[in-house]
Amino acid sequence: MKKKWLGLILSLIFIAFSFMTTTAGRISSWQTIYLDPGHGGTDGGAMQDGIKESTLTLSIALCIKEILEEHHFRVLLTRTEDSSLCDKEFIKKEDMSKRVAQINQSDAALALSIHLNHFGIAKYRGAQVFYSNANAGNEILAKTIQNHLRYYLGNTDREVVLRDNIFILNRITIPCCIVECGFMSNPEEFRLLQTADYRYQFAQAILYSIQDYLKVY
Ligand SMILES: [Zn+2]
Repeated sequence: MKKKWLGLILSLIFIAFSFMTTTAGRISSWQTIYLDPGHGGTDGGAMQDGIKESTLTLSIALCIKEILEEHHFRVLLTRTEDSSLCDKEFIKKEDMSKRVAQINQSDAALALSIHLNHFGIAKYRGAQVFYSNANAGNEILAKTIQNHLRYYLGNTDREVVLRDNIFILNRITIPCCIVECGFMSNPEEFRLLQTADYRYQFAQAILYSIQDYLKVY
């Protein structure tokens, strides 16, 4: 009888200890990340071969969300459907202001606005990160992401770009940057961006960047 009780008590201690360590492990990497899939609704952004930038930004953001959640991050999105944030007709300033307000009212550790480039000359390619000096952490965040994209994608040697005239970058009050995931006007990159494999690879690089920036592994 005594042995039975001892076994039960030891089992309970073991279960409690396992629960505590699991919970502690999760709390240490439990941070909120805000993702902003650029454009949406009547504002499709850039267009190539009938495909809207807004469709790709949402696909990429959803892929990043999935991977981050697998690593115990909490992920919020400014939109989850093909729609803008405007109440009635589309007004760019209203759409942008609402994205900024959502992000600033959250408890997120950082925010990434997801976009794609488009240029008149097809040869330009490569993912690139834009930042402003509005927050102290922006430049480090941008450089961390750019370095990881260079390393893990192996197809861009672009550098971060300081852009002090972008509304969203100047109004967001937490570390943030714009991730231009590639050029829709470059046929090869456009093809890659439409594949789930490449989006997954891209999202992995973003995960590693965020872990590195927040020092959460
Ligand atoms: Zn865009």
